[in-house]
Amino acid sequence: MLGLMQDWPLLCHRIIEHAATIHGTQEVVTRSVEGPIHRTNYKQIHDRALKVSQALTRDGIRFGDRIATIAWNTWRHLECWYGIMGMGAICHTVNPRLFPDQIAWIINHAQDRIVLTDLTFVPMLEKIADKMASVERYVVLTDEAHMPETSLKNAVAYEDWIGSCDGDFAWKSFDENTAAAMCYTSGTTGDPKGVLYSHRSNVLHALMANSKDALGTSASDTMLPVVPLFHANSWGIAFSAPSMGTKLVMPGPKLDGASVFELLDTEQVSHTAGVPTVWLMLLNYMSSNNLKLPHLKMVVCGGSAMPRSMIKAFVEMGVQVRHAWGMTEMSPLGTLATLKPPFAKTTGEERLDVLQLQGYPPFGVQMKITDDSGNKLPWDGKTFGRLKVSGPAVSKAYYRVDTNILDEEGYFDTGDVATIDAHGYMRITDRSKDVIKSGGEWISSIDLENLAVAHPAVAEAAVIGVHHPKWDERPLLIVQLKQGQKATREDILKFMEGKIAKWWMPDDVAFVDGIPHTATGKILKTALREQFRNYSFPNAAA
Ligand code: ADP
Repeated sequence: MLGLMQDWPLLCHRIIEHAATIHGTQEVVTRSVEGPIHRTNYKQIHDRALKVSQALTRDGIRFGDRIATIAWNTWRHLECWYGIMGMGAICHTVNPRLFPDQIAWIINHAQDRIVLTDLTFVPMLEKIADKMASVERYVVLTDEAHMPETSLKNAVAYEDWIGSCDGDFAWKSFDENTAAAMCYTSGTTGDPKGVLYSHRSNVLHALMANSKDALGTSASDTMLPVVPLFHANSWGIAFSAPSMGTKLVMPGPKLDGASVFELLDTEQVSHTAGVPTVWLMLLNYMSSNNLKLPHLKMVVCGGSAMPRSMIKAFVEMGVQVRHAWGMTEMSPLGTLATLKPPFAKTTGEERLDVLQLQGYPPFGVQMKITDDSGNKLPWDGKTFGRLKVSGPAVSKAYYRVDTNILDEEGYFDTGDVATIDAHGYMRITDRSKDVIKSGGEWISSIDLENLAVAHPAVAEAAVIGVHHPKWDERPLLIVQLKQGQKATREDILKFMEGKIAKWWMPDDVAFVDGIPHTATGKILKTALREQFRNYSFPNAAA
């Protein structure tokens, strides 16, 4: 027997329709790419998103066509998301920090027909445009006054493009499993892979993100997503915020400490979300200028492990820290570290111990850890294994790739190595390809990095496994010191001694001027492995 409830497909544009009806005057504030602060609201975003759909339709775009956006977090970008998805086209967010050739590869693979982009990226796109045959038109997200001379095909200023539409357009209802958006993983190992979100997965993911124990916002809060709309589905914030009527503050192209601080302060932001690198810049700026953020309630931090020293700095400011883990393939929220009983009342170092974990999943994400043969491992907080996940907002395949990516129970292998404890808290110990295999045992590179960055002179640390004649691999600690600070190999090793098992201690420390990063701010270990390819440990006896 079937239930007798309405057939109401979960469609992304219903979110902005709801926002326009119920929270129409709620503000969306942006530091525009042109410079000035711009203010709009959900009603106007909805109305202009309809014009985007109308302009796309006029340009011959049909249901299922792919439209690329290469753009910062701005109100215009948000209008494009809803305008593209609302008419049943697919919003393909492209990460502008990738190498231009990779961008061309991705756009070709997706066969994008129109590219919507910011002024910032026009020169880069001009250089690669002849490699992207599927693109019929470029829309520059600006007005006529700021529109540059450009060789880009059929280029038009966004305000002219939608300005010539009257907005007399209606979004239709269709199957909630229709593709809504796509985002390629950064492809640090092999070709990038296209993750294809559906309307249903995005709406369900927004509902997951809306819980108090997830992003933690409501209609009376203000969210500043430093996490870009082009990275991992903007952590769901582009759907979650309008679905609740949360005020949005969009940072545009300026993500440095001073600019982010200024917006957090002047817009009295209560919640913000981003990767650790961004928070490092903010904290440094605040401490060197002796600044405070009395309105800030919560910092959501993910993408890489959040260092304990950073958690402590926010906690001491009276700001709640929410360490999150996830990935593009998971829409992306996987786990969040909130203090559930029996940890709610913990204090001091014990509290930091829990906040530093990657956390437990919201309803809608299931996890397991397994050994290499797929056998389930215990949730004892100690045993580590391959972390696998399933849920309605988790990928089941990549776009135009035939390989099966699920195991026999329908779980997706995240490529991360983790422990899970009896309370369901997960802790990432490594990427499976970064884990150091020493004498048949695993050493967690992340644990060593977290420990090394706690040394006061260390700005950033990376640990890689280097071949060792006896142990197969041993850890090499690579350190970038803070400007003007000094520390020797011995100082750092001494600092780590006694805090980890003896056999986990790095065999050597190498000092570098800079640690390379991926386009999404993660340590680029492939480049470090290449850099240290000919390195051998001073003490390695054959
Ligand atoms: P990309 O691979 O494009 O940089 P993703 O966001 O998809 O972007 O990366 C997902 C990976 O990032 C995860 O599989 C995990 O290795 C890492 N990651 C994300 N959040 C955390 C975290 N809180 N702690 C440690 N690693 C994290």
